Amino acid sequence: AARSLLGPAEIRDLAEMLGVNPTKKLGQNFVIDGNTVRRIVKVATVSPGDTVLEVGPGLGSLTLGLLETGAAVVAVEIDERLAEQLPLTVELMHPGAQLTVIRQDALKITELPGDPSRLVANLPYNVSVPVLLYLLENFPSIRAGVVMVQAEVGERLAAPPGSKVYGSPSVKAAWYGAFRTAGKVSRQVFWPVPGVDSILIAFERRLEPLESEELRRATFTLVDAAFQQRRKMLRQSLSLVLGDSTTASEIMTRAGIDPTERGEQLTAEDFLAIARAQLAGR
Ligand code: SAM
Repeated sequence: AARSLLGPAEIRDLAEMLGVNPTKKLGQNFVIDGNTVRRIVKVATVSPGDTVLEVGPGLGSLTLGLLETGAAVVAVEIDERLAEQLPLTVELMHPGAQLTVIRQDALKITELPGDPSRLVANLPYNVSVPVLLYLLENFPSIRAGVVMVQAEVGERLAAPPGSKVYGSPSVKAAWYGAFRTAGKVSRQVFWPVPGVDSILIAFERRLEPLESEELRRATFTLVDAAFQQRRKMLRQSLSLVLGDSTTASEIMTRAGIDPTERGEQLTAEDFLAIARAQLAGR
């Protein structure tokens, strides 16, 4: 069945035919290896009847692998030439497959057909974290997914509190659900070959949202402040957001958080507790 996916020759031919010179700006590195596609699809446990959201389908490498499972795919692609070609490629390789292509910036999308339950994507590097958080925030139908991102970024997304790379993306990701790494991917499976390695990240959303939008915003503001000065104690790093360091200490004490801790020790729930104490004291 390897012929149902795109290999290096097909990818180059398609790009040439469309006059597409892959750009770094749009993170255009296309997967040319069928085994990698199958691996992603397997980790994502996609099945017939699922509607999958794919961001940045590019020339369709992953899209074809997803459609092969019998799932429906909603693909959001910013590049007009790629968005126009995709249905033609799919019709040729996989006639009758259920594909909807939306030509749009994923960071601006406000509506998705079919209430996709999964996100499976090889995300454009430069916007991978913003895109992921934006989709989780705005599309609650997405319950789980697998994304391929730059290795360092993925390790941050999946990092537990206290680890060296734990930071603002780790806390924000944890706000929405549980993230884990699901294996590295060599840069050699792409054309053009990027300057970094990639990693698969699998996630499952929390059963219930952690809190309201107002508390999420307040929490994320605290998280950003805490990690802008990650070596400082929280009463210091949060002093501007919470007023001054005395007020910050008071609010944290009310929240049951030690003001001399550093942000890297706190879970998403801890930051939420501080935000709650902050809003309650207004
Ligand atoms: N899925 C394809 C694959 O695996 O071969 C391509 C992945 S490539 C890393 C990223 C894709 O995202 C490109 O096709 C690029 O044009 C598209 N893209 C970049 N920025 C985007 C955005 N803001 N919204 C939607 N698509 C975007």
